[in-house]
Amino acid sequence: MSEILVLVEHVDGEVKKVTLELLTLARTLGEASAVWAGPGYSEAAKAKLAEYGADKVYVADSDEIVNYVVAPKAELLAKLVGDKSPAAVLVAATTEGKEVAGRLAVKTDSGVITDAVGLGEGFVADQSIFGGGVNVRSRVTKGTPIVAVRPNSTAPVAAAGAGAEEKVEVAPSDAARAAKIVERVKEEKGARPELTEAAIVVSGGRGVGSAENFAIIEKLADSIGAAVGASRAATDAKWYPHQFQVGQTGKTVSPQLYIAAGISGAIQHRAGMQTSKTIIVINKDPEAPIFEIADFGVVGDLFQVVPQLTEEIEKR
Ligand code: FAD
Repeated sequence: MSEILVLVEHVDGEVKKVTLELLTLARTLGEASAVWAGPGYSEAAKAKLAEYGADKVYVADSDEIVNYVVAPKAELLAKLVGDKSPAAVLVAATTEGKEVAGRLAVKTDSGVITDAVGLGEGFVADQSIFGGGVNVRSRVTKGTPIVAVRPNSTAPVAAAGAGAEEKVEVAPSDAARAAKIVERVKEEKGARPELTEAAIVVSGGRGVGSAENFAIIEKLADSIGAAVGASRAATDAKWYPHQFQVGQTGKTVSPQLYIAAGISGAIQHRAGMQTSKTIIVINKDPEAPIFEIADFGVVGDLFQVVPQLTEEIEKR
């Protein structure tokens, strides 16, 4: 069976859920091999990767890798592509993952598909393109297929893999050292799930009206264990922090359920959320374009609908 490399996303030594999704997906197409880049590797991390089907775990856990933006990760993957000739490389379609994918494609003279929401036999990907305006089916026709898959595209399913560890020695090239990270500012995590990984996202837009009013969006989110998102109108107005902006210039989310309250549905907002599995819209304007992509919609004032919904959920 052919080997498929999966670049591990990890924070503070913990494997992120999207990696478990990618391992699950890789297993349907070949033998999954995890690639750990940067410090924080542990037996627990290895066990987690093996639990989700990694037959091999390539480990390059030098500090050097994280000190220099993303270029060393692309170099590591390029080395493995050269040494192991994998059938494909999967990365998460996160900001970092997509940059790694692009650099890797150049280094290995291969084709790249970003924002895949599904991947099938022959590495044919369902891909969201033109800022989310169009969905197409794509296949890489040159080199090693490199596919960046959106978080939440596949449900993670455990299935034990061998988890055979192999150390990889890499030192970033001079070119990769050209830009060094001088400081890291941690995003406030809080008790809510991470926005791009959350199964449910509740987002508020200009209709929410003020920073204080975002409390009702948060209350609904907390009642269902959701992450909170916001439109750019809301983040530009400083009602909610920019790190929670969903859309073309914000984060891309693809949760099981996306609830949009007081958001009109501009193309730039849709670009970041329209691959959500189920979309519920709360908007007082029945003509708001977001209703075009809604699975369920409530035409009404969010200041009435959202608290009622929260109350009902909390009763159950
Ligand atoms: P509006 O379009 O003003 O819509 C507010 C909605 O709230 C309306 O539909 C209204 O009917 C409804 N409403 C008002 N009061 C209530 C109420 N009491 N109850 C219920 N409904 C109510 N936008 C993003 O979101 N993300 C991006 O990443 C992004 N990137 C951009 C990049 C570029 C280059 C550009 C040009 C724009 C970008 N935008 C982005 C902005 C985008 O074009 C829209 O301006 C923005 O999404 C509008 O936000 P909104 O829907 O909250 O506000």
